[in-house]
Amino acid sequence: MSDINSELQALLTNRQEIESLMLLEKERRGVDKNHLLFVGMANIANYWWCAMRSVLETKRDELTFFVPYLTDRLSYAHKLGIIDHLPTNSEKLLDIGDDISWNDIVQLLRERKADRIAFASLSSFDEDGNKVTYINPDLPEQLRTQERMRLESQGISIGNIDDTPPLLRGKILEGTRSECYPTIRWNFEYPPYVIVGVPDGIADVFVYEFKTTQSQFLKRFVKPVAQAQADLYGYFFRRDKKRYQIYVMEDEETETFESDIDKSLVEQTLRDFERVDSGWIPPLPVAWKCKKCDDALSQVCEKRIPKKEEIRKKQKEEKRKAKTEDPLSKRAGKRRVKREDGLPDFDSQEDLIAFAALVKKLDDQRIANCRHKLGLNKTCPYCDVCPYLDPEW
Ligand code: SF4
Repeated sequence: MSDINSELQALLTNRQEIESLMLLEKERRGVDKNHLLFVGMANIANYWWCAMRSVLETKRDELTFFVPYLTDRLSYAHKLGIIDHLPTNSEKLLDIGDDISWNDIVQLLRERKADRIAFASLSSFDEDGNKVTYINPDLPEQLRTQERMRLESQGISIGNIDDTPPLLRGKILEGTRSECYPTIRWNFEYPPYVIVGVPDGIADVFVYEFKTTQSQFLKRFVKPVAQAQADLYGYFFRRDKKRYQIYVMEDEETETFESDIDKSLVEQTLRDFERVDSGWIPPLPVAWKCKKCDDALSQVCEKRIPKKEEIRKKQKEEKRKAKTEDPLSKRAGKRRVKREDGLPDFDSQEDLIAFAALVKKLDDQRIANCRHKLGLNKTCPYCDVCPYLDPEW
């Protein structure tokens, strides 16, 4: 590892230093430290899953977009021969990369090969936390046997990919089923944001995106996200076309889609993302998305659909409140001023009307009862002002 790479590694593992560099960069750009500046293309595309979630997630993960922004500027500057060491001064460090042009990025991309990181086996953890190794199912028979023998000779536990939970299997297969193109990560100024992205592939005329989903049902919801993501990549990485694929695990099939980059959709998505970031409350997604939403996000989401237990808790609370405020409830007596005859006291007709409205809201059936029993029997002292006895009412 060259010196500069060691320096970079040391910098990137110092979270405190990275955080203060991000704040300094915001200050240099005149951006309030609480405002979003660094965003990711994949997160913006998630607008098409849930607009609120895409913004909340981006805000929460902003540092994870600043890190690639900084890393790429420093490491590409080194590759291009612009620097041979990292300056210790923070301002100077943040200046590095200002003079990297689009042509430089094109040049760096050209030097990259379309090599998939082919793996013979991949390790993961099962539901009980045990490490399990899976052999790449797409390896030729002979190589699979060799790999099995190698793992067995080392006493490594080999998992059966068909028994793997769907999500994990999808992740494993993604590494083997997607098409292979060179790619590069880079960031783009798009005020008020700096947008970081890395397509799954960049060919001469198109960008490539690969997604995995569990079922045909979910594919309907994943497709707009994949499409928006590919459009964003094409827009920023200057390609006219997109090619995206969705691997549906239940069918073990990959569907391929190809079309021109939809620039107006990209601009619309970016505008709407910014509107939500500025406080606009977007329409709700379908209810099951909220139920599956990340707990931490749904706690801060203003649009979230309450979970079942929360609905039950709220209903219980409302019931308790209604009982307390209900003038005909025994518990209500504790709250209101009592007349000598035991009926609730009202200072004005408005109070009574408000009271009546409350009663109506609480229990329409009870009003009907009142009308027949109290109203007609003239046992209620408020009949002359009671709106429920007005025939027009
Ligand atoms: S709770 Fe629902 S609306 Fe809120 S971020 Fe999650 S999915 Fe979106």
